[in-house]
Amino acid sequence: MATSKKYKRSHPHGLVSDRIPEALEGLKTTRIPKVATGIPAIVHSLGYGLSEMGPVRMTRAWLAVNQKNGFDCPSCAWADPDDDRHPFEFCENGAKAMADEATTQRVTPEFFARYSVAELSQKSDYWLNKQGRLTCPVILRPGYSHYRAISWDDAFQTIAKTLKQLSSPDEAVFYTSGKATNEAAFLYQLFARVYGTNNLPDCSNMCHESSGWALQQTLGVGKSTVTLNDLEHADLIFSIGQNPGTNHPRMLTSLLAAKRNGATIIDINPLPEVGLLRFKHPQEPMHLLGNGTRLSDRLLQVRINGDVALMKGIIKAVLEAEERWPGTMLDWDFIRTYTSGFEEFRQQIRDTQWEQIEEQSGIAREQIVEVGEMAASARSTVICWAMGLTQHRNGVENIRELVNLLLLRGNIGRANAGVLCVRGHSNVQGDRTMGIWEQMDSEFLNRLGSEFKFEPPRHNGYDTVETIRAMEAGKVKAFISLGGNFLSATPDTDVVARGLSRCDLTAFIATKLNRGHLVTGETSVILPCLGRTEVDVQASRPQFTTVEDTLGVVSSSRGVLAPVSENLKSEVAIIAGVAEATVGGRGDICWTDFLDYDRIRDRVSRVVAGFENFNERVRAPGGFYAPVAAKERRFNTATGKANFTVNLIRPIQLGAEQYLMMTIRSHDQFNTTIYGLDDRYRGVHGGRRVIFMNREDMAEAGLEERQLVDLTSHFETERRTIRDFSVIPYDIPRRCTATYYPETNPLVALGSVAEVSNTPASKSVVITIEASRGDAEVAALG
Ligand code: SF4
Repeated sequence: MATSKKYKRSHPHGLVSDRIPEALEGLKTTRIPKVATGIPAIVHSLGYGLSEMGPVRMTRAWLAVNQKNGFDCPSCAWADPDDDRHPFEFCENGAKAMADEATTQRVTPEFFARYSVAELSQKSDYWLNKQGRLTCPVILRPGYSHYRAISWDDAFQTIAKTLKQLSSPDEAVFYTSGKATNEAAFLYQLFARVYGTNNLPDCSNMCHESSGWALQQTLGVGKSTVTLNDLEHADLIFSIGQNPGTNHPRMLTSLLAAKRNGATIIDINPLPEVGLLRFKHPQEPMHLLGNGTRLSDRLLQVRINGDVALMKGIIKAVLEAEERWPGTMLDWDFIRTYTSGFEEFRQQIRDTQWEQIEEQSGIAREQIVEVGEMAASARSTVICWAMGLTQHRNGVENIRELVNLLLLRGNIGRANAGVLCVRGHSNVQGDRTMGIWEQMDSEFLNRLGSEFKFEPPRHNGYDTVETIRAMEAGKVKAFISLGGNFLSATPDTDVVARGLSRCDLTAFIATKLNRGHLVTGETSVILPCLGRTEVDVQASRPQFTTVEDTLGVVSSSRGVLAPVSENLKSEVAIIAGVAEATVGGRGDICWTDFLDYDRIRDRVSRVVAGFENFNERVRAPGGFYAPVAAKERRFNTATGKANFTVNLIRPIQLGAEQYLMMTIRSHDQFNTTIYGLDDRYRGVHGGRRVIFMNREDMAEAGLEERQLVDLTSHFETERRTIRDFSVIPYDIPRRCTATYYPETNPLVALGSVAEVSNTPASKSVVITIEASRGDAEVAALG
């Protein structure tokens, strides 16, 4: 394994994993605020909006975002209210995402003439993002140092030429970020499959793939089973492995509504996150003036990867209560009628010892039993989770264990109860519904083939991790990316960089420049596209697109701002252009017809189950719910029932000086986009290369606050080291640490993945921490 230092020497475009030098300067820590949102969120939203967009664009965007006739927030996938909406239906992060996209800053051909790719590679992610919107297609030709402007037609022909020359369609990969709309996603997967490959990795491979597999196995559907109304009227809510205050802030509004309706909220997380502790609703003046509302009733600071143990403890407490008061705690009608595997599951819980549960979860039995008794008596329970559960080697088992708890009391398929997997990017769920998956089932492929008169490839394609392996092995020659920042979002950054560099062609459909565009194949093309906020005129009229949120609501999105450049194309127009140049004439497809998006939706309605009359239904104000059979207690599983599962506690053994590290996001970022260098809800300002540690662990290791350290990850026999992180003492369980993504992605070994789902285990990385060696010592060591 090459160290980042070695890689830095060998890569033509400079540093990848050892980057952002300026982030070490100006690092400050402050008191952690006691309350989330409130006036500071309004001030930050305004400041960011005004400085990036100016008052006129800002006001237009703010009044249209998440409105029934407006555009969908380009940030997270949180759901909008079914009924009336507030005139300002967004959060601070939504405001940042809008401003980031609708910025008046421009990246022009002159910008690319000024900076070589090598020079741009030395800039931080923050700086790259700050340069503004891409305004024209550009190409980096073999042997050249700078991207240069190119016409759209030449760009399409360049991509088509490479794709046509590959010896197999499986030498091409079509990656999708979760921001792509349904129309773009449907067309993109159609293009890939007409071309001849199922190589359709996506960002879902890296986030909720574990949820999808676990929910399919247990409930027969890989999606949430609740509505916003269910969440707001639940009696008991578990929030596990997530940080809504930063990653999906409007969820706090729903939790506040639930609280006011009498809900009890249990927060399970290694870190106490401010958002769940106390929240001030920014749209309620009286609430703003008060102390806010405490949301979580109990915080269980579970050890990293202690979730299966903790969930087993809660379940054990429910089962023990049932044994004390037989027939009163479990929903026996539901268990007998709708489930399978109960007895085996119950026996395994009986056999699990409390000592093991306490040791592995890090939570005392009394606390677990108290929560178990709440679960046993709650009228309805919703469990919400995010990547704190999915990105572990046992990520699928984590989710299966949550489902076990819900099944005990019939909390699936009835009002105010169910599972809620809180998704990240705004249309990551919809993209999968539209066929972005490397292993879509034969039913979908049959319908696709018969609708478009071609024979889709039947063998599975590469997922994200498999793509990286194939790239490194030289089996991928062309990498096309619909949005996103593949390099920074993926694990094992240096390996990914090597793989991208081995491609003949990299092509990126993007709104803004990012680091992923700077580690390139022999030829590289950047294709600038319209953003969600912008008016999209095609086929002589404004078009609208559609998205599916985390609760399965499919709705329309209409941009309202003038595009930042006349030379932009929509994602749909770009895909249609590349497809026409590459596979034009194949199948019953006229790619240019699709510039009228109604025609895409007509075809979707004949291919995607549950999307019949798509055009008509999505025009209803607020859209419609995509079907989820489990909501009606129809379980499309192998047994035809909801399945209890047996999951083992599988401790991660740490050596004497080892720690578990999880990656987290700061308040000033969304996925790989860095809006700023602050994380005010954790009291960190002006820098991101930090590691949060337990104070006692610091003392034991002889580390001081703000001391610079080097981090080395240990996976099987492999070691990876990144340098110069500043130690921040934090309220986190012993032997657990947290660092920001994507800075520590280089520590996540490609082979460290969740079983079954192949999701990178970015939340349980075994590391050692050493005082930083400094440049001179590292240089002396060679
Ligand atoms: S919660 Fe998510 S979707 Fe809603 S405004 Fe905030 S960032 Fe956008």
